[in-house]
Amino acid sequence: SFSSCSPKVCIVGSGPAGFYTAHHVIKARQDAEVDIYERLPVPFGLVRFGVAPDHPEVKNVINTFTQTAKHSRCNFYGNINVGKDVSVEELQQAYHAVVLSYGAEDNRKMGIPGEDLAGVYSAKDFVGWYNGLPSCQKLNPDLSCDTAVILGQGNVALDVARILLSPINILKKTDITQPALEALEKSQVRRVLIVGRRGPIQIACTIKELREMAKLPGTRPEMLAADFDGITEALKNVPRPRKRLTELLLKTALEVPNEEEQERRSKASRVWAFQFFRSPVEVLASPDKTRTAGIRLAVNRLEGSGERAQAVLTGELEDVPCGLIISSIGYKSTLIDPSVPFDSHKAIVPNINGRVQQVAGLYCSGWLKTGPTGVIATTMNNSFDTAKSLLDDMASGTVDLSASKAGFHSITGLLEKRGVKPVLFSDWEKIDSVETSKGEAIGKPREKILTVQEMLQVVHK
Ligand code: FAD
Repeated sequence: SFSSCSPKVCIVGSGPAGFYTAHHVIKARQDAEVDIYERLPVPFGLVRFGVAPDHPEVKNVINTFTQTAKHSRCNFYGNINVGKDVSVEELQQAYHAVVLSYGAEDNRKMGIPGEDLAGVYSAKDFVGWYNGLPSCQKLNPDLSCDTAVILGQGNVALDVARILLSPINILKKTDITQPALEALEKSQVRRVLIVGRRGPIQIACTIKELREMAKLPGTRPEMLAADFDGITEALKNVPRPRKRLTELLLKTALEVPNEEEQERRSKASRVWAFQFFRSPVEVLASPDKTRTAGIRLAVNRLEGSGERAQAVLTGELEDVPCGLIISSIGYKSTLIDPSVPFDSHKAIVPNINGRVQQVAGLYCSGWLKTGPTGVIATTMNNSFDTAKSLLDDMASGTVDLSASKAGFHSITGLLEKRGVKPVLFSDWEKIDSVETSKGEAIGKPREKILTVQEMLQVVHK
């Protein structure tokens, strides 16, 4: 007689997408077992290594993820690099279904001369550096200059601007790494320009991040009134959230501040500004050619109106002297295993509602599925959608549950042979407790361990 066995699901990546997908599957099917594989010895992806240290409230999702990880039908296997330590095909053989949710770990390049000069960093590396991502700890950014230019006007760009400009006393109480704190304490950066191709109506940040900039202690905005010509008129035809964002921007940039705000601004020692209608053309080198001394920008004008307006070159160029350039023009997913279909133009796994095209039993969720946009709530929704596709396919028989699958039992032998030692969730809890007590001793919520080697030492002690 037909009997179906308990569905075994494998999830690759333990960021929000991995955890929200796992959560939905476990909740919807009382018989499903979910294993989450993670490259690093520590879970939570960009919640740990992306979200800014001064956004502790955003990291509360970790509590929900921890509940999922501790569920009796969920297991976490960290320190396993899928594509290297175990292949996706091996996982597909061991599980009824595999969900790829390994995020977007690379960054888009500007593709301009001088991009590789010293003093030019990607936001991905800079963020990874101050958030303790092991692979970015050697970055050691030079903050000895007066002016920094950030290319891009999204939330990540504003995170970076805030971290560069925040008073050290604020950062001291966050989980920013100690080496980053020490470097920022000595920083000479006084001016941060946040450069975008288009205009005030097209900035890509959200209102929360803009409000934080407007209120950032010790800083004042310094924007060009001419950039806002005609904006009030144009605002009549844009959607409400965009309207509110632009109104705040207008108020911050142009309105004569009240007395209290004037007082605050007059004491400010650091300045920030959005620069609009500019595209990077070339990173300019110092006379000895060893490092960056500025950036050449092309001046644009807008064609069309509203959120979809396009930047068009005017032919005019402008040089901006600066010693630090951070390009924040987007993260990018990579291919981790040649057997997986990959759209290298869009840099995503091609899918329909999370079903990887042409491969039964293979799914994707999160930034790997949608591209690197949106907040955690967006990632949650698209992960629930993927989980629903998977559950529908189990119910309809598209995912065949009639043969039993060994799950992790058939992977553990492979890992042993390859000298890979998985880190369990209880092991992460040891790391977590070392980090929180190290932090507590110096008035921080956490002091992160900065190398994989040291993480593993804590686990195997
Ligand atoms: P990720 O979070 O990147 O998770 C992917 C996981 O897969 C990682 O743990 C990674 O180590 C793992 N992995 C990678 N390769 C492999 C492999 N080969 N094998 C096994 N595992 C692998 N959203 C907000 O709501 N609020 C914020 O304040 C906010 N701030 C942000 C700041 C920055 C700098 C960035 C970049 C994003 C921010 N976001 C914020 C957005 C949020 O982080 C994303 O929406 C979300 O993390 C995407 O989830 P994900 O699971 O797809 O990817």
